[in-house]
Amino acid sequence: MILTITLNPAIDIRYEIDNFEINSIFRGKASKTAGGKGLNVSRVLRLLGENVEASGFLGGNSGDWISSKIESIGIKDKFIKTDAETRSCIAILGKGTQTEILEPGEKVSTNYIDKFLEFFKNNFDRFETICISGSAPQGVQDDIYKVLCEIANNKKVILDTSGKFLLKGIEGNPYLIKPNKEELEGMLGRELLTFSELLEGAKEIKNRGCKNLLVSLGKDGAIFIDEKNDIYRVSIPKVNIKNPVGSGDSTIAGFAYGLNENKSPEETLKLAMACGISNAMMDETGNIDLDVVKELFNKVKVEKI
Ligand code: ATP
Repeated sequence: MILTITLNPAIDIRYEIDNFEINSIFRGKASKTAGGKGLNVSRVLRLLGENVEASGFLGGNSGDWISSKIESIGIKDKFIKTDAETRSCIAILGKGTQTEILEPGEKVSTNYIDKFLEFFKNNFDRFETICISGSAPQGVQDDIYKVLCEIANNKKVILDTSGKFLLKGIEGNPYLIKPNKEELEGMLGRELLTFSELLEGAKEIKNRGCKNLLVSLGKDGAIFIDEKNDIYRVSIPKVNIKNPVGSGDSTIAGFAYGLNENKSPEETLKLAMACGISNAMMDETGNIDLDVVKELFNKVKVEKI
């Protein structure tokens, strides 16, 4: 059983409109999913066969819709129900273009934040692995993830967020963070132009406090630095991609599953990459094909450098 935390979930609404352009009117069918990075992670964990409890904040009719969607695929709804309507995020996929409108999320008031913290304090101990993903809605303090990591400091807390939430969160000494290259550059405040600069930057961030660091590099695989400061280069096969959005979340799910099943670091990294790649090969965000994952697993190379 894995606990996932999504403080700022969303109904992800996707339109596929081949000839999309601004200043025009289009008619199109929306496909809707229960979104937010932590719910993508939860969905992929379920596909891998893991039991999942999901918490965070849900509110209004959108919150009810998400609740019924996740329950229908066996994710246990442990969300705190608030009076702040859960947001929607819109993606319009054109021919080779992707336009996104992301709502920030309505303000959540202090009494609900206190309720969530109470839930977390009373429940974290039932889990060995906890995945915390994405941003937080307005009203939630910037150091919320630092607080959660400190409460659960004897657990394997995987923190996948960005900006101020990541900068503060790493102070709580999470088990793993998984920035992509842009997020790593954002944390360092400088560009990383060569592989050796990337490696130096990764080591610098690792020393700020996380126990393990996975830097995901899209089609170029990943770099992993473990607790002993051993460094691994993870290379992945070339594939035809459809929609790489959510590949990071699928990677987190694969990693968390491997950890929770006590797989070796090498197997865990292979599974994480295979899930990320499989997601990129499919249309839907936060989705994998198990047969493809099995095939890809054997094609991922993990090399100590
Ligand atoms: P997102 O924020 O969309 O969830 P991310 O930026 O956090 O993604 P990426 O580094 O893009 O994460 O992708 C995570 C993993 O997914 C990569 O390490 C890789 O294994 C796989 N992946 C992503 N994009 C591609 C691609 N174009 N081709 C093959 N594999 C990919």
